[in-house]
Amino acid sequence: MQDYIIVGGGSAGCVLANRLSADPSNRVLLLEAGGPDYRNDIFSIPASYSRPFRTAHDWAFQTEAQKHLHNRALYWPRGKVLGGSSSINAMIYIRGNRLDYDTWRDLGNPGWGFDDVLPYFKKAEHNERGESAHHGAGGPLNVADLRSPHPYTLRFLESCRSLGIPANEDFNGTEQDGCGLYQVTQKDGRRCSTAVAYLAPAMDRPNLAVKTHAPVSRVLFEGQQAIGVAYRQCGEEREARAEAEVILCGGAVSSPQLLLLSGVGPAGHLREQGVDVVADLPGMGENLQDHLAVPLLTLTRKGASLLQAERPWHLLQFYLRKRGWLTSNVGEGGAFVRTRPGLDAPDLQFHFVPAAVEDHGLSEPAGHGYTFVPTLVSVASRGWIGLRSTNPDWAPRIEPNYLEADEDLEVLLAGCELSRQLADQAALVPYRDREYLPGPEVRTPEQLRDYVRAHAGTLYHPAGTCKMGVDDLSVVDPQLRVREVDGLRVVDASIMPTVIRGNTNAPTIMIAEKAADIILSGRPQVTKAASA
Ligand SMILES: Cc1cc2nc3c(=O)[nH]c(=O)nc-3n(C[C@H](O)[C@H](O)[C@H](O)COP(=O)(O)OP(=O)(O)OC[C@H]3O[C@@H](n4cnc5c(N)ncnc54)[C@H](O)[C@@H]3O)c2cc1C
Repeated sequence: MQDYIIVGGGSAGCVLANRLSADPSNRVLLLEAGGPDYRNDIFSIPASYSRPFRTAHDWAFQTEAQKHLHNRALYWPRGKVLGGSSSINAMIYIRGNRLDYDTWRDLGNPGWGFDDVLPYFKKAEHNERGESAHHGAGGPLNVADLRSPHPYTLRFLESCRSLGIPANEDFNGTEQDGCGLYQVTQKDGRRCSTAVAYLAPAMDRPNLAVKTHAPVSRVLFEGQQAIGVAYRQCGEEREARAEAEVILCGGAVSSPQLLLLSGVGPAGHLREQGVDVVADLPGMGENLQDHLAVPLLTLTRKGASLLQAERPWHLLQFYLRKRGWLTSNVGEGGAFVRTRPGLDAPDLQFHFVPAAVEDHGLSEPAGHGYTFVPTLVSVASRGWIGLRSTNPDWAPRIEPNYLEADEDLEVLLAGCELSRQLADQAALVPYRDREYLPGPEVRTPEQLRDYVRAHAGTLYHPAGTCKMGVDDLSVVDPQLRVREVDGLRVVDASIMPTVIRGNTNAPTIMIAEKAADIILSGRPQVTKAASA
């Protein structure tokens, strides 16, 4: 018997496993569907970040055919390994905009405004630049400057500046707007996932048990009380009981799926699927938001792209000096911009990749080049996740409804136009051979809109499917307790009421840090009546 069962050892789950087991009187069990990471090079060498895609370490989800994207079904990689998606992500360390968290607070979530959550970002962080008003030092998560930024990336930043986008030395400081190199979750030139940062140092604790290859199939209830989980390991069906709480950290796809499989969700949908209803929560799986991004590829005639990262020189640099292009997080530089006047915060984020990358890096590149990846970060479209089957081995239905809201398309159109202006700046022109995608035949705004529909893909940030709040569609309350039941919380990217403006790993780690504090401090809990 344990006090806490944590389902999913990803970005959030590893944080909780560490923080809850720090008190030796708490017995903690972490169940992870994937395997261990073992500091394997496939995860730890930054530039090889797409290598786990479509392997056993990837859930490799697929969305429904997207009506507004020429009926394409999009591939969604998600980490299936200790560290979860933090073991396969691009390591960009971004917190989002102050406005994002103040919006969460104003939606009825006291304690989640920016000034409330900043201490948790800092608690998590060891920023190699040192402690400051904005940054922490001494936390488990190592945040570093890129060791060997690619010359193309530096040219990209020059282009941004010549177009009037101001330099920003710290996207997580006073201002988010501007252009700069991203800081990365790396240590000594290698990936610092939450498995590395939080779980590895806690693995030897006698009060923490970690089981891998142990997918959880449902939460067990006695009445409305969550008492444990059913899971599989070594081909056997097993059960584990929790004396205090079950905490779901399966991520924005799997946490709602698991709750639906357990009878917590919209009663109509559950009955349709033949699942007994434990609690009727109409918002379960709703409110899905993701960052849609569109790649624009230029082929170069000067300089070698990141494709050469595995050349002997860079291998030597990496293994002898912990430097060189193998330390690249691929999306090295970027910018946050506002595509029209009157906005309170950026609606577009740039990612710049010093290589011509297609199909998530899974297709043979057309040659040396670079890729602009303008990304929508102020998302108006909303989607949902629902059951396809009651068999937990079947992926759920994922319907992001990309570009359902017209304004989302207009932001990406502006991003395409801005990318072309950047490519035309003096800093990048000498490198250009030709624009490869969209290509010279795509000129008018209407043609560019069509290009977006034909080529846009996920930037891997699904969120919001178990949203925190106090309205009828919220799934968890501001203490992250699942409404209408007891002994059950969700702690992962799914609780975001609105997806933040930026990459979602650091915010998810912050959520878990704060959740650990809420759980351990046992602070007076908001009653269901008060949160209804
Ligand atoms: C390819 C890619 C690139 C990205 N790049 C960046 C980036 O550069 N910067 C950034 O900030 N963010 C990035 N992200 C997003 C970020 O990594 C995620 O938002 C974050 O990791 C989500 O954390 P989570 O805890 O919600 O879920 P996850 O980290 O995905 O963890 C969920 C865990 O639960 C496990 N699990 C699921 N279901 C079950 C079950 N039934 N039983 C047991 N275990 C289960 C999974 O295997 C996984 O380990 C990227 C994501 C991807 C996929």
